[in-house]
Amino acid sequence: MSNDFQTDSRQMLARLRAAMAEEAAGQARLDKITHLIADSMKTEVCSVYLFRDADTLELCATEGLKPEAVHQTRMKLGEGLVGRVGRTGRIVNTPDAPSEPGFRYMAETGEEIYSSFAGVPIQRLGEKLGVLVVQSKRARRYSEDEITALEVVAMVLAEMAELGAFVGEGAALSALHTKPVLFRGTTGQEGAAEGHVWLHEPRVVITNPIAEDPHREGERLAEAVDQLRDAVDTLVANIADDDKEQLEVLEAYRMFANSKGWLRRMEEDVARGLSAEAAVEKEQSTARARMETITDPYLRDRLHDLDDLSNRLLRILSGQGKATGAEMPADPILVARNIGPAELLDYGRSLKGIVLEGGSVGSHAAIVARALAIPLVIHAGRITTEALNGDHVLVDGDGGIAHLRAEDTVVNAFRDKIAMQAKAQERYASIRDLPAVSMCGQRVHLMMNAGLMADLPSLAGSGAEGMGLFRTELQFLIRNQMPKRSELSALYARVIDAAEGRKVVFRTLDIGSDKVLSYMKPNDEPNPALGWRAIRVGLDKPGVMRMQLQALVRAANGRPLTVMFPFVAQYEEYRAASAEMDKALERERILGHPLPEKVELGAMLETPSLAFAPTKFFEEVEFLSIGGNDLKQFFFAADRENERVRRRYDTLNVSFLTFLQGIVDRCASTGTQLSFCGEDAGRPVEAICLAAMGLRTLSMRPASIGPVKSLLMRTDLGALRQVIDKARDEGRQSVREPVMEFLRMQG
Ligand code: PEP
Ligand code: MG
Repeated sequence: MSNDFQTDSRQMLARLRAAMAEEAAGQARLDKITHLIADSMKTEVCSVYLFRDADTLELCATEGLKPEAVHQTRMKLGEGLVGRVGRTGRIVNTPDAPSEPGFRYMAETGEEIYSSFAGVPIQRLGEKLGVLVVQSKRARRYSEDEITALEVVAMVLAEMAELGAFVGEGAALSALHTKPVLFRGTTGQEGAAEGHVWLHEPRVVITNPIAEDPHREGERLAEAVDQLRDAVDTLVANIADDDKEQLEVLEAYRMFANSKGWLRRMEEDVARGLSAEAAVEKEQSTARARMETITDPYLRDRLHDLDDLSNRLLRILSGQGKATGAEMPADPILVARNIGPAELLDYGRSLKGIVLEGGSVGSHAAIVARALAIPLVIHAGRITTEALNGDHVLVDGDGGIAHLRAEDTVVNAFRDKIAMQAKAQERYASIRDLPAVSMCGQRVHLMMNAGLMADLPSLAGSGAEGMGLFRTELQFLIRNQMPKRSELSALYARVIDAAEGRKVVFRTLDIGSDKVLSYMKPNDEPNPALGWRAIRVGLDKPGVMRMQLQALVRAANGRPLTVMFPFVAQYEEYRAASAEMDKALERERILGHPLPEKVELGAMLETPSLAFAPTKFFEEVEFLSIGGNDLKQFFFAADRENERVRRRYDTLNVSFLTFLQGIVDRCASTGTQLSFCGEDAGRPVEAICLAAMGLRTLSMRPASIGPVKSLLMRTDLGALRQVIDKARDEGRQSVREPVMEFLRMQG
C-alpha cells in the first residue's frame, strides 16, 4: 500500500465526512457523494444503486450518467454488470465493459460511451444494500488501490445507510428497518405468539465510520486488541487443566485473537481513513461472506470464532456492552443467530417466542424451547440484520414463519388465529382431569415426554398420567462439563418427587448422532446416525452408564424405579445393559443404600431389527417403547434431520402401519407392555391411528396431550381401524386421505 494512496483515500474520506456532516436531504447527500468520489478518483462516472426491493436495484444518484435516468433505471438482481455485483456480492473490474458477459446497455443513461467499469457491493455484515459503480471512457482496469478505496467508501455508505442518512422519497431511499419483512423458516416448536423483538446480541451501532484522526484511531484499535487478548487469556486460564476439549477450542480462539493478519488488515483500513470500529466491522463482513460459501463444519466454526471476536472487539471499542440500556419489552420475542440451551434456560418462560437464524429441529435450543412450550422458528433468513430491538413481530411456529413489522391485515388475521388457539386451550383445560377414553370406550394412557426441570410443572398442567420418556441426556447437553453423580441423583429425585407416585420412565444416556456433548471429543464418523451412539457408547464405555444407574437407584430411595435403554438393536445389548443394572443394585446393596421397591427394565424399539428379535427377548423385557423418530428414519432410510427427505414418507404410510401392527401383535402374544414415544404420538391424527392399531400408551410433549385427548374422545377407534384396514386392502400408499375423510364425516 503506497503512502500516496493512503493520503488520497484519507482525503476522500475526509471530504465524505464533511459532506455527511452538512444538513441535507437524503437525495442531496447522495448526489454530493457521487460527485465527490468521481472528482477524487478522477473518473468520469460515479453512481450509487440501492435496492428498492429484494431483487431490484435502482440508480439513486450519479455523476456522469444522464440525470434523467436517476430513479428511472432499474435492474433485476443478476441483470447486467450492476445486477451481477448485487447478486454475487463480488467486485467486477473491467477495462472493456461492453464485451463482458451479461453486459446490458441502458440507453437512458447514455453509458455506451464508457468503456471501463468497476462495481463494488455496498453491504453491511452480509446484508446487501446496493452497488457503488465508477466508469470511465478510457479503457483501463482500476488499480488495486483504487478498488480498495472504493470498498472503504462502500463500507462507509453502508454504515450511513444503516443510520438513515439517505432517507428520501421512493422505495430505494426509504429508511431501512421500517418495511414489513416475512421470514420463511422451519418449525422448531409449534404455537403462535405476538410480541416485540428482543435481540439476544444487539448490534453495535457505528456512528463514526470515518476517522477524524487516523493516528489516534490506530492507537484505539491497538488498545482494544490488547484488552481483547487479555480477556481471552483469562478465559483460557480459567479452564481446568484436565478439560482438554475446552482447552483445545479456546486455544484456537486465542490463536485468532493473536492473528497478525487479522490485525494488519484492520490497521491498513484505519490508515486509509476508517474508524477503528468500521475497520473491525469490515473484517467481520468479509468473514461472514466467507462463512456463507464454506460447508466444512470445522472451518465454519473457526470463522464463527472470528465473528465472535469481532463482536467482542466492537463492544470494547464502542463501549456498548451486551446491555445497551434498552429495556426488555413486556412481550419479548427473542431474536438471535443462534443460542445455547443454558442461555435459553436463563431467559426461561419470560419469552413469548423465539426466532433463530440457525438451529435445527433436534438442536438443544429447540429441545429447551419445546420443554418451555415457547413457539420457535428456526432458519429465519437474516432476521438479526433486519430486526431492531422493539420491532413488532409475529411468530407462527406451526408454519415456521416470522412476520416482522407486519401490515395490519396480517396482524388481524394472526390475532384471529391466536384467539382460536386460546379457545381450543380452554376446551383442553376442561377435559384435563378426565381419563382419555375413546368414543367406543377404549382407554388410552397419555403420558408426557420430559428431560429438564423446566418440564416438571407441565405434569400437573397437562393432565399427563406420568412421564413415558425422561430424556436424561438433556441434563448432560445443557452443561459445559460432565455432571457429577450426586448432582444427577438429586435431579432424578426431584423428578420422582414431582411425579407424586405416577410412573417416570428414565431413559439412560442417549448421546451420539445429533446429540453431541461439547465436553466429549467428537467422533469423526462418516455417518453418525448409524454410528457409535446411545447404548453402544454405554456398553463400550460403561463408566458413565454405571454412574447414571447408581444415581437413579439412589434417587428412587426405596421407591419404584423404571429404566429404559435407548437404541437397542439386538437382544444381547439388552441383556448386557440389564446385567449392568443388576451390578448397580448389588453395589448399592453392599454400600447399604435402600434398594427400589421394584425395578422395571425396558428397551426402546428404534431399529427395525429389534422387531424381529427372538421371542425370548420379548418375554424377558418388561416393556418396550417405540421411538418413532428413529424407527421411522431407519424404516424408510430417510434422515430425520434432513429437511429434504424428512417429510417425504408419511407416518400413516401402510408399510409403516403394518410394521407397527407386527410389533403390537408380538407384544400381545408375550404380554409385553408397549408404548409409543416419538413425536408422532403428539400429533392428534397420527395418535388416534396409533391407538386404532392397538398402541394404548402414548407419550408426547405436554402441550399435545389436550389436543390428542380431545380428538380421541370424539373418535370411534373400531370404526377408524376399519377405515385403515380398508385403505390397506385397496392398496393405498398412505391411509391419511381416507382417515381425514372419516374425521370430516365424524365432525
Ligand atoms: C425417538 O427416536 O423416537 C425418540 C423418542 O428418541 P429421540 O427423539 O430422543 O431420539
Ligand atoms: Mg431416538
